[in-house]
Amino acid sequence: MAEWASGPALPPRRGQAITATATVAPSITPAERACFGWLQALEDAISYRLVRLAAPCPGCGPQRCDDHAVDVGLIAGYRNTATHIRPVLHARR
Ligand SMILES: [Zn+2]
Repeated sequence: MAEWASGPALPPRRGQAITATATVAPSITPAERACFGWLQALEDAISYRLVRLAAPCPGCGPQRCDDHAVDVGLIAGYRNTATHIRPVLHARR
């Protein structure tokens, strides 16, 4: 059975028998599906790096140690990449 077959029923259209049941198939394109995958991966990577940054570090002082400076840079890069992916998802809406 298709994933969408158990989706919410639509209200009957004008003239449509009330007993009829219609379902809505999600209209996600392969490109959108790929975008969701990338965004999820980026969110996971950001979360991982944020946890690393939150951990106490004897090497970090007023400035980050090399490892944590890399984390900060990667987070910025991941967020920047996500800002370029999100418009693809919102373009159709
Ligand atoms: Zn550090």
